[in-house]
Amino acid sequence: MLEELKQRVLLANKSLKTSGLVTLTWGNASAFDATKRLVAIKPSGVPYDELKLEDIVIVDLSGNVVEGTLRPSSDCPTHLKMYQAHPELGGIIHTHSTFATAFAQAKRPIPPYGTTHADAFYGEVPCARLLSKKEIEEDYEGNTGKVIVEALENRDPFDVPAILLPSHGVFTWGESVEKALENAVTLEEVAKMAYLTETICPKTPALDPNLMEKHHKRKHGSSAYYGQK
Ligand SMILES: [Zn+2]
Repeated sequence: MLEELKQRVLLANKSLKTSGLVTLTWGNASAFDATKRLVAIKPSGVPYDELKLEDIVIVDLSGNVVEGTLRPSSDCPTHLKMYQAHPELGGIIHTHSTFATAFAQAKRPIPPYGTTHADAFYGEVPCARLLSKKEIEEDYEGNTGKVIVEALENRDPFDVPAILLPSHGVFTWGESVEKALENAVTLEEVAKMAYLTETICPKTPALDPNLMEKHHKRKHGSSAYYGQK
């Protein structure tokens, strides 16, 4: 079932390790089939280099395992909350990539300092709110998804396809799991550049809004012209 999607999720999960975004098993990738309304996701706790196609778990949007013998990632309820609210997402990635997570631990959005940021993220990368004691106790992973959805309210999720989870890590997404992975790689690079920029010059102003507009719009939306037709 969904062999092609499972293959892509397998590859995305292995890429988390090879791209250096993830240490040990601190991350996971999933993809969503909007027609069948099913999610393919990494199994919990399996090292990336041991991961096989048949290990990828298929779950429905209520979290029932439809195919697979392993337990889905413990972060699965977060992914599901996001797909439930935004079925236009084709893939979601969670990591604790170092520089982006450092901003998350500092509970600071990542300011847009340059065009690398603007190409992928239209404005600062926000930091979600902290969960309450009750939210942590009752349904930690599900409520993590809830606060991400809350933060996306009234905006196009593809304008800034990433969010920081305070004290924890990051989630990125995209039209596909490959795009979500690209956004995770970009987010980490942008966070590293922002950190270095502030180290060199703590008072660096945010990117000129005109440059933000130009760089984002030439890659995204109806007037995009970057790349090949
Ligand atoms: Zn995590």
